[in-house]
Amino acid sequence: MLGRKERDQLELFITGSLRQLVPDEHVLARVDRVLDLSWLREEVSDRYSANDGRPGVDPEAAVRLMLAGLLTGIVHDRKLIREAQVNIAIRWFAGYGLHERLPHHSSLTRIRQRWGEERFRRIFKRTVQACLKAKIATAEVVHIDASLIRANVSWDSLTEQHAVDVLSENQSEDESEDERKGRQSGKYKKVCTTDPDATMATNARNRRLEPAYKQHTAVDDKVGVILDVAVTTEQTNEGEMIEPQVDEIEAITGIDIKVVTADAGYAYAKVYGALERRGIDALIPAKAEPIKSRVPLRRFRYDAKNDILKCPRGRILRPARPIKHGRFFYAKAKDCTRCPLKRDCLSKGRVNKAVVVGDHYPALLRARRRRERWSKQDRHLYQRHRWRSEGFHGEAKTWHGLARAVRRGLPNMKIQAYLTAAAINLKRLATALLALILSWIVPQNAFAASDRAVARALTRGP
Ligand code: SF4
Repeated sequence: MLGRKERDQLELFITGSLRQLVPDEHVLARVDRVLDLSWLREEVSDRYSANDGRPGVDPEAAVRLMLAGLLTGIVHDRKLIREAQVNIAIRWFAGYGLHERLPHHSSLTRIRQRWGEERFRRIFKRTVQACLKAKIATAEVVHIDASLIRANVSWDSLTEQHAVDVLSENQSEDESEDERKGRQSGKYKKVCTTDPDATMATNARNRRLEPAYKQHTAVDDKVGVILDVAVTTEQTNEGEMIEPQVDEIEAITGIDIKVVTADAGYAYAKVYGALERRGIDALIPAKAEPIKSRVPLRRFRYDAKNDILKCPRGRILRPARPIKHGRFFYAKAKDCTRCPLKRDCLSKGRVNKAVVVGDHYPALLRARRRRERWSKQDRHLYQRHRWRSEGFHGEAKTWHGLARAVRRGLPNMKIQAYLTAAAINLKRLATALLALILSWIVPQNAFAASDRAVARALTRGP
């Protein structure tokens, strides 16, 4: 039989809290159980005048509105406030009653400018500490990866000629090799007139360059809690970020990292050296040495004890002048006259055989040997790297709007990244709490299956 719905709605008043209208399994209801922002008022009080001016938006309400937007995939302030007018769950989560006036969307912009990115980073750090306290992160095995975020600019805002003119005007004699290569390849030629902080980047050789930012993320192995997030322009290499990120994680958590995994994009000698110095096992697949000569560098043996290099014929090369990332080792070419390899080994007209050895070359050699001996457990952990770190980037981009910058400028991009990471950590925390509750009320054998289903549903999206 056909049903009929009476469309006249006569209720004008409701009794009780708006919470009664929000389902328990709604993402905002779950996150609310684990979110504590009681410390925030004190934290930002120095950014406001104690006596003058109109009362501003409550700091906790503002952050709750921003988090509600990210958790439900509404990343633009204007759209978020429009949605909050009619969305009971967002109103309740932010603490606004049905008849209360919501803040103007531009207030959220002013709050971000007033607080600065460092305050939002502290919100993110608090979520990391809450996850550690709840024992859903150990900070012992960390997966590090980087991903590009498309800048919020149109193709029309890219300009080429201006940049070329300025670069040629400013070209100096001590221009570094990287800068010269970048300029020749056209990588830095285009600039965005509307967002000059964004740089041209691509994540594959056969893809076109796009204006983008680069997010560097460190993810805990246990359930995928985000331990650190950093945003840079494309010009910052992944290898430069791993050391400060490791230090930052250890400072936030107070725990010594045992294993770091990363992909081959991080396979630099200085990365292996830095991790080795800290006593961290680097599960980063070392690349084989590129063969440019018939007598390649790997055929020269470095003797760390005596700080000398031995060529394939046993001749000793001694260290000489240092360069930016290493040192030259020299031997006199006149001593090589009887060597059968001299045609391939010596450069024409040179009086010395010179070899450049990077500062962390011994660590790179050890990493190459270690790569050949990766155990089954190492390989398993490296597979989890893809699952954890690339999984986070996919989740953040698909469900929480991180595929594209919402606002322009590096500080705004950082705030978006911190709040997105905080929202995902809060989801992980809410899932852990739910699993704990289920473990109390559901029999153990039934719990395993239900927990998996719930965990899957809760960590994948709103
Ligand atoms: S040419 Fe000289 S440096 Fe090169 S392998 Fe022979 S002895 Fe060694």
